[in-house]
Amino acid sequence: MARIVQKFGGTSVANIERIKAAAQSVKREVDNGHQVAVVVSAMAGVTNQLVAYVDEISNLYDAREYDVVVSTGEQVTAGLLALELQNLGINARSWLGWQIPIQTNNAHGKARIENIERGELVNRLEQGEVVVVPGFQGLGPDNRVTTLGRGGSDTSAVALAAALDADQCDIYTDVDGIYTSDPRIVAKARKLEKITYEEMLEMASVGAKVLQTRAVEVAMNHGVRIQVLSSFSNEPGTLVVNEDEIVEKELVSGIAYSRDEAKITLVRVPDKPGVAASIFGPLADASINVDMIVQNVSAESGATDLTFTVTSADLERAVSVLESKRGELDYAELISDSNVVKISVIGIGMRSHAGVALKMFQTLADKGINIQVISTSEIKVSVLIEEEYTELAVRALHSAYGLDEE
Ligand code: ASP
Ligand code: MG
Repeated sequence: MARIVQKFGGTSVANIERIKAAAQSVKREVDNGHQVAVVVSAMAGVTNQLVAYVDEISNLYDAREYDVVVSTGEQVTAGLLALELQNLGINARSWLGWQIPIQTNNAHGKARIENIERGELVNRLEQGEVVVVPGFQGLGPDNRVTTLGRGGSDTSAVALAAALDADQCDIYTDVDGIYTSDPRIVAKARKLEKITYEEMLEMASVGAKVLQTRAVEVAMNHGVRIQVLSSFSNEPGTLVVNEDEIVEKELVSGIAYSRDEAKITLVRVPDKPGVAASIFGPLADASINVDMIVQNVSAESGATDLTFTVTSADLERAVSVLESKRGELDYAELISDSNVVKISVIGIGMRSHAGVALKMFQTLADKGINIQVISTSEIKVSVLIEEEYTELAVRALHSAYGLDEE
């Protein structure tokens, strides 16, 4: 007998028919003799609608009331799922965030879970009750409802699994697992059987968004085994686990890309101490994250070109911050370009193998693709290239690292 958390995302509870299907998956686990806690999202589209209502009534809204409104979607599905489980003869009860409580900090709209009172839930599970918990919501120190940020139900599920010492956290969604690359552009992408937390975090950071990043961090910190699987099939999904659960470490487990990038080049900034700080300081003050950075000292005279990337959404603000500091920064020209994509090769195997980056550069060179910026981490090599080569580059790399499905 195991204790498991099952989490159903918006498309898996999108209507009454889907809620009934979710209840059948819960029933299967109960029939297998397991203790089951369920976490639900709002029905697909509902949270967007709730956010739109708030926007419509108030532009500069009070975050406490935003939370009161947007947390309700999950309450509806929790009640409906508990009712359907009861229809199936299962002893089921919903538990709202404040009833447990799931305690969070005071950051309304993007709160972090600090503690989950597990006592009563564990009693109920041990008595054979299925506990149904609305994701996304908690209780702040001001005794008011909080929400965890968009996509936060994943984090609710993982945090609950950690608090309950669950054996596994099954995240039911509309994709059947984590793939070696985006199946929409790589026809030969394969579903991975397992992936490590670290790789999953890197995949998320370059746009492959299946799980909320925070959920993966919580899972990694508490060693919660996650399975990502589809509620539309009965196939096993992908396990997200600790590195030591993976025997055969793939050199590279995925090729990811992000179109959400923009490049800024400052031409001929003075090459002297403190310059980088004087450029990146004001950007940080404006909460603009800088990602990849290259600096080339030019042969002539004490000047350097500095190129870096920000998200497309931040480009306009970044440019205006830098233009307002033009006098101080003393650059000759500012060039911005949003026609770029970041392509990343990710795998824990590269920690112990040389040559991964070289293969990437060679593969792109063979296709005549120019690399504009490079950055690396322990388990990732990223390059910035012209956006129109996205598909070509991703497919070529997918083959080059032997990821293509036979
Ligand atoms: N319903 C919330 C959202 O759409 C939380 C979630 O589903 O994870 O962001
Ligand atoms: Mg989600």
